[in-house]
Amino acid sequence: MQPDIPNSLFSRVRFVLVETSHPGNIGAAARAIKTMGFSDLVLVRPRFADALQQDDAIAFASGAIDVLQNARVVPTLAEALDGVQFAAALSSRLREYSPPVLTPREFAGTVGEQADLQAALVFGSERYGLSNDSVMQCQALVNIPANPDYSSLNLAQAVQLLAYECRLALLPARSGAPGSPDSSARSGPRIGFQGELAAAAQVEGMYAHLEQALVQLGYLDPTNPKKLMPRLRRLFARTGLETEEVNILRGIAGHVISACDKRG
Ligand code: SAH
Repeated sequence: MQPDIPNSLFSRVRFVLVETSHPGNIGAAARAIKTMGFSDLVLVRPRFADALQQDDAIAFASGAIDVLQNARVVPTLAEALDGVQFAAALSSRLREYSPPVLTPREFAGTVGEQADLQAALVFGSERYGLSNDSVMQCQALVNIPANPDYSSLNLAQAVQLLAYECRLALLPARSGAPGSPDSSARSGPRIGFQGELAAAAQVEGMYAHLEQALVQLGYLDPTNPKKLMPRLRRLFARTGLETEEVNILRGIAGHVISACDKRG
């Protein structure tokens, strides 16, 4: 029997597909997320502008046509992440400059534990995966620990796996079930997010402000930026920035800029 689960729980995870080539994969992804109770699907620059209406998308979506019909198509990842506080990039490749790496289960656990968290999962294109730029706009990198000799899953299958893990983490714990998460552990004190988590757009604004301050200060050479900003992004991505902390960092950047202006 299905436990009674509020729908709002499942509106906390958005599925974002970036530059998807095959409309069939979009349909299959819609089906994958609906079978697990989710519905929020956003496409960033799909290869075909009318991908949602294509025959393959509709055929592969099967009973999840409603998810396709309600999906949004946007031009940038930043727009897709509007209102999101915790975005994870899905990649089969680990990278030097990346936010902290989580397994699907760890990602789902974070979402399950934090009742107000708006999260997103960002999937790359079939051919090229995600760009470093897209990965760096996320606060985590989720890697499905697959066969190292062949680690690239089909896009919709990767979506299915993440949707399943998120569902397990969001379902109320079945008491006494072997391996069920201990609900008392969930309500206990947690280290990490204490205040309201900053939205992705706030964090992006903070990086732009910080970069401007570092340039004015002469610490960052715009003609030879090296890896300063990616390193700072990686540093802050490990912290789970809260709105108030973003405001403090912007305040510091603002003061640096005005001190530099006065100095001339
Ligand atoms: N050829 C691409 C991968 C395409 S698979 C590449 O080499 O990067 C399409 C998408 O599915 C990927 O961008 C990623 O978001 C997801 N995916 C596939 N396998 C994955 C894995 N092992 N771990 C995490 N995400 C994976």
